[in-house]
Amino acid sequence: MSPAVCQNCGSRSFRADRSLGGRLICQTCGTPAGSRPARSARARPSRTDRHRRRLWLVLLAIVLVMVVVLSAL
Ligand SMILES: [Zn+2]
Repeated sequence: MSPAVCQNCGSRSFRADRSLGGRLICQTCGTPAGSRPARSARARPSRTDRHRRRLWLVLLAIVLVMVVVLSAL
């Protein structure tokens, strides 16, 4: 089980990484041998995720203001 070329960058040089349990990783891009290019949606947050997080922050701020106002009454 020795991959000929890296599926991510096409490099032919690999090295065994101890932190990955001796798995072969590409010397050029660091992609583990036999794995697909890291292009999943999990790699970087999408715009909707960022927007959603901002929405939660706004809601939290509104709730905090309401609590302060109600406790001041
Ligand atoms: Zn590579």
